[in-house]
Amino acid sequence: MKKLLGPLLLFPLLIGTGTLVAQTELRPAIDTKANSIESKVIEWRRDIHMYPELGNQETRTAKKIADHLRSLGIEVTENVAVTGVVGVLKGGKPGPTVALRADMDGLPVTERNELPFKSVNTATYNGQETGVMHACGHDSHVAILMGVAEVLASMKDDLEGTVKFIFQPAEEGVFDADMAGAELMVKEGVMEDVDAVFGLHINSQTEVGKIGYRSGPIMAAVDNLEITVKGVQAHGAYPWSSVDPIVTSSQIIMGLQTILSRSVNVTQNPAVVTIGAIHGGIRHNIIPEEVKLIGTVRTFGDEQQKLVHKRINEIVINIAESAGATVDLKLEKLYPSTVNNPDLTKEMLPSLEAAAGAENLIYLNPVTGAEDFSFFQREKPGVFIFLGGMKKGGDPLTTPSHHTPGFYIDEGGFVLGMRVLSYFVVDYMGQNK
Ligand SMILES: [Zn+2]
Ligand SMILES: [Zn+2]
Repeated sequence: MKKLLGPLLLFPLLIGTGTLVAQTELRPAIDTKANSIESKVIEWRRDIHMYPELGNQETRTAKKIADHLRSLGIEVTENVAVTGVVGVLKGGKPGPTVALRADMDGLPVTERNELPFKSVNTATYNGQETGVMHACGHDSHVAILMGVAEVLASMKDDLEGTVKFIFQPAEEGVFDADMAGAELMVKEGVMEDVDAVFGLHINSQTEVGKIGYRSGPIMAAVDNLEITVKGVQAHGAYPWSSVDPIVTSSQIIMGLQTILSRSVNVTQNPAVVTIGAIHGGIRHNIIPEEVKLIGTVRTFGDEQQKLVHKRINEIVINIAESAGATVDLKLEKLYPSTVNNPDLTKEMLPSLEAAAGAENLIYLNPVTGAEDFSFFQREKPGVFIFLGGMKKGGDPLTTPSHHTPGFYIDEGGFVLGMRVLSYFVVDYMGQNK
């Protein structure tokens, strides 16, 4: 990533500072336009909130986006990575291509908030009837990016480059396809002509007006862990004739805990190994033949992921072997770590400060949640930030978190969201002409 960004950055540092001012001068016009469309953006968000759609089924949402982009004179491609929408806005002057991304999918959660725009949708998810809810705030992301499209389209002739609006399906993953969302969009070539990519996530437990950011790894890689320990079944009264998969599994679980305490340099980055389920056995006096463990692994950066995976393999296989059991170990990589390119983060810090005010920026600890925005960042330098969506004075400890039925977003931060993404675009264009 650093290699990709190097030449882009050095060039304007040497000779290109004149253009920086020109593009930065668009900021007041961005502010005015963003303020003037605030109520429209809120209306869009409420409509999308009321009719949420699960991953790869976001057809109503996609149509709303495509219609809006077309009305602005933006070139639109639909059905990208199943239901995704990509809009291309060519500025009046040549320059880099800057991508902005919003995810569109809701979750199989039944909303409990009493709102005039409470979700009315239900669906079948993995064979189960469920309510559908924008319980992660992706409705806000869509509305904000539709707003940004309107802001930037209004100053199209002054833009020194191209803006690519990426509306992505299925960020939360799907159970019925191997590849979806950002990863599939990348595979379909969406990042090929892009120079830099920016995205945001609204946060229900961060006050409106605040922005969280971090250089380097900001969110974790997520991997699924599946272990099957196979032993020899026996009567519970005669354990010596068994190879006990329950005792072996217990040792494995405790062994895995030492990865964090003894193998990972926790002063650099945290990591997580969680076993979420143990399945084995049927009654009190039977030692079963087999125990299944499933869990999740969270790491920051490829190097740490490699180390943690290596230790999981060593611990699981060797403990099983020492007990005379056999073991089936699966480590499935889902999303890689979301890594903010350090050079680009530094370059964009003045844009964040100008939009939110330096006092409203929060330098975040690494977040052990995951985001498939990481796939875009693996292709081109990118920055991902968090936008405050909790009402002012709210208590983050008692405010419902993401993916819960009481999840709630205060819309007061939408204008800031539009301003930040628009500043990223024009400031990047100014500095990377
Ligand atoms: Zn989510
Ligand atoms: Zn999300």
